[in-house]
Amino acid sequence: MTDCLFCKIVAKEIQAEIVYENDGALAFRDINPQAPTHVLVIPKEHHADAAALARADQGLADEVLKAAHAVAVQEGVADEGYRVVFNTGPGAGQTVFHVHAHVLGGRNLTWPPG
Ligand code: 5GP
Repeated sequence: MTDCLFCKIVAKEIQAEIVYENDGALAFRDINPQAPTHVLVIPKEHHADAAALARADQGLADEVLKAAHAVAVQEGVADEGYRVVFNTGPGAGQTVFHVHAHVLGGRNLTWPPG
């Protein structure tokens, strides 16, 4: 999608600190980190949110989840515990409508989230 911020990061038209990439997914550091590790994992293909991704392509959803875990391992937070969050819809705080998993770790993560 031409007017999508994250599609522009996939196309390398907008710079991001990319930390992981495979055929279907890309991971880069959040510009406004909420934890010592805060990485966004996206499918390279545009889908608006997690529900749209799951409806469209279960294989790609699986690739995103596997990439999220690979990022956690690479960042050294897999053993201590980390959080994978898909804000889905404006009511849940989604602001960028290209599905993304937030991978958060490196600090004590409380529950429930705000
Ligand atoms: P959401 O609120 O949609 O779940 O998360 C969107 C995330 O994208 C936010 O955490 C925000 O900080 C991040 N973000 C917004 N614009 C940019 C950008 O241009 N580059 C990067 N790396 N992250 C961004």
